[in-house]
Amino acid sequence: MTAPVQGSATLGIAQHHFDVAARQLDLAPALVLVLRQIKRELIVHFPVEMDDGSFRVFTGFRVQHNIARGPAKGGMRFHPAMTLADARALAMFMTWKAAVVGLPFGGAKGGVVVDPKALSITERERLTRRFTTEISLLIGPDRDIPAPDIGTGPQEMAWMMDTLSMHAGYSVPASVTGKPVAIGGSEGRNAATGRGIATVAAQALRDSGIDPTGATAAVQGFGQVGSSTAQLLAAAGMRVVAVSDSGGGVHSGGGLDVDALTALKEEGGAIADYGAAQALTNDELLTLEVDLLVPCALEAQITAANATRVRARVIAEGANAAVDPEAEAVLTEKDVLIVPDILANAGGVVVSYFEWVQNLEAFFWARGEVNARLREVMARGYDAVRTKAQADHLSLREAAYQIAVRRVAEASEVRGIYP
Ligand code: GLU
Repeated sequence: MTAPVQGSATLGIAQHHFDVAARQLDLAPALVLVLRQIKRELIVHFPVEMDDGSFRVFTGFRVQHNIARGPAKGGMRFHPAMTLADARALAMFMTWKAAVVGLPFGGAKGGVVVDPKALSITERERLTRRFTTEISLLIGPDRDIPAPDIGTGPQEMAWMMDTLSMHAGYSVPASVTGKPVAIGGSEGRNAATGRGIATVAAQALRDSGIDPTGATAAVQGFGQVGSSTAQLLAAAGMRVVAVSDSGGGVHSGGGLDVDALTALKEEGGAIADYGAAQALTNDELLTLEVDLLVPCALEAQITAANATRVRARVIAEGANAAVDPEAEAVLTEKDVLIVPDILANAGGVVVSYFEWVQNLEAFFWARGEVNARLREVMARGYDAVRTKAQADHLSLREAAYQIAVRRVAEASEVRGIYP
């Protein structure tokens, strides 16, 4: 049995989607028991010296949901609201995400309960290195490979890789992905999640009878995922009419200058500071009349509270579990096409896979090759999901889960139970 732990909305959503797939696939009870369960989890409490000489104790997690198809893979989240229950849910999403696009990985997630924005760079470095040390018994190129997530990026991955390498006594680049290119990171990794979202969103628009060129789009969240998504949607000819960050957003019916907004964020500004457009709240952004809505912020943004007011024709879930099951039922009634998280935002882990392969081979690919292969994997994944959805009268999420859960179930079954 799972150890008693406070649940979370996200864990409830993850279990709901798995339960639906298990029922639809008529999965054997023993497989349901195994796949609904978390395989391995580590909770660590560790001290970090602050710049003023004081000490604080932080809590971190690393959770591996399933490793039947390969090493555990998934991001490291630094967020004040991070919980073990969320790490479990996000690790489950990673298992299905890797499986639906055919990567030879299992699913993991981890992180630290911390507001990284409240730390200096030296405090962040000490926290990252000590956390990496604490969980290092689980991590390695054949075992579990961390990557960036909310609140972490290439610099944290560099510290993680360096810490693991110092312990080993030699460089182990394949132990972490999302690293800077200077130490074996892949070209194209930073924008990979956004590129994957843009690829499947354009196809979903076409499938809904909407020409992506000139289609209107709203993007919630302007971190690494949201900003690269907005840029790539604009580059594909869409009109990005609204974007936001946690402090609020801006709207312009004629389309926003995404490059100018990106520059503003890079200089440390907030989206709401952008003067050349109308201000709007996150709730207003989510309920705008647009062809495409891409929630790239946190979980559970579209719920029973706002689903009836959502007027987008297509939703691509940049953030995991952005649409909760109650909202999804309402939106499906309204014929809104939802590209589910495990498919829509898989581009990041796809290029993480490419990075791991390049590190293991010590042979690097040009950016054009990375991007072309990413598009190919995303298009193939989307195509398989849409074909199954049409053939079996399923939502894209149900089809994606059925494909993913079946792959993991097959791997578990053929391997058998040891001893
Ligand atoms: N954190 C990203 C995700 O949730 C990337 C994970 C990875 O690249 O391993 O998909």
